[in-house]
Amino acid sequence: MNHVHEALGVDLGGTKIRVARVTREGVILEKRVERVPKGRDAQLEVIFQNIQKLYSDRTIGVGLGFPGRVKVPEGIALTAGYLELKDLPLADLIRQHFSVPAFVDTDADMALLAETKMGAARGFKDVAMMTIGTGIGGAILFDGKMFYGNGSAAQLGHLTVDPRGPVCNCGRRGCIETLSSGSALGRLLAQTDLDRNIPATELIELAQKGHPVARQVLTEWITPLKMAIDSLYAVISPEIVLLGGGLGSAAFETLQLIQPAGSPWFHSRVAAGTLGDDAGVIGSGLCAWEKFGDQE
Ligand SMILES: [Zn+2]
Repeated sequence: MNHVHEALGVDLGGTKIRVARVTREGVILEKRVERVPKGRDAQLEVIFQNIQKLYSDRTIGVGLGFPGRVKVPEGIALTAGYLELKDLPLADLIRQHFSVPAFVDTDADMALLAETKMGAARGFKDVAMMTIGTGIGGAILFDGKMFYGNGSAAQLGHLTVDPRGPVCNCGRRGCIETLSSGSALGRLLAQTDLDRNIPATELIELAQKGHPVARQVLTEWITPLKMAIDSLYAVISPEIVLLGGGLGSAAFETLQLIQPAGSPWFHSRVAAGTLGDDAGVIGSGLCAWEKFGDQE
């Protein structure tokens, strides 16, 4: 195949950064994955270094998915609970540094874009997605278009389900990010005799075999998520709710296993994303193609 041009997709997570060269069809040609260090300067450096390593004269533009609130379309990172990159004109910085166009959106919007084009959301026009990793991101496709509201809509990790719950990065209590994220699962495990770092798949297997503690942990982890999905359905009734991010499949399997009670009024179709951890970089690359592909 002759790939004359390519986009760079960047998926910035709370713990890892992924950068990939992506074709117009969403095929990854080359990918880098690196841990995200602590500190604002080090975090900026790791972003620019990794873009630099895959950047070439074939690059038509950069799409970057950011794990926090983003002002779209300006591409300004407003806040990021797990990173120290608050109030940063990220799209402008990339444009100036590499002299290519850049578009910055949330990591969840990028993942949903990829799932819409080539994954589990193909063919749907009204979709909600929750990306479950270190925190919980959210994205809404409304009538076939990404929904931004006043600039940073769909922060689904901040759906509140327990006013007396743990304090969230947003300043409130009991957001599902504090109860059903990867960090929350780690905290739940730390209160038991189970290994805090047990892979979610093994934890689910234990629960399937009837291990009472594993089942209890998973019940506490997934019930708030189920409540949030039901509330989301009550508000926007999407055709499908996708669970993505590193723990998307685990959350979906856990929902099937535990089946927390809900209301028949709010019965949502739920599925796991099919692109896994690559959804973010693919979506970021596709986003760059969508915005800048005609300028090549
Ligand atoms: Zn919150």
